[in-house]
Amino acid sequence: MGTDPAAPVRTCVGCRAKAAQSDLVRLALDGDAVVCDPARRMPGRGAYLHPDRRCWEAAQRRRVWPRAFRAGRALDASAVAECFAAV
Ligand SMILES: [Zn+2]
Repeated sequence: MGTDPAAPVRTCVGCRAKAAQSDLVRLALDGDAVVCDPARRMPGRGAYLHPDRRCWEAAQRRRVWPRAFRAGRALDASAVAECFAAV
């Protein structure tokens, strides 16, 4: 499928499937808020989601954020919904 074997692979935190990093949306932490990082430039640990609202909803339902960011505290991921509103 034209996948570059050297391309980094990440796991979608929603559906747990592996995908090329370029096929996933990067999320980053801004304080206690999970935000979208479409430019992939924000510092710190990232988490990845398919650009699919079902993956976002699955991640919310399973409360993956503290684990995905190794934060050890509750995180507010409500802002991420905006990234998926148009999908
Ligand atoms: Zn997914």
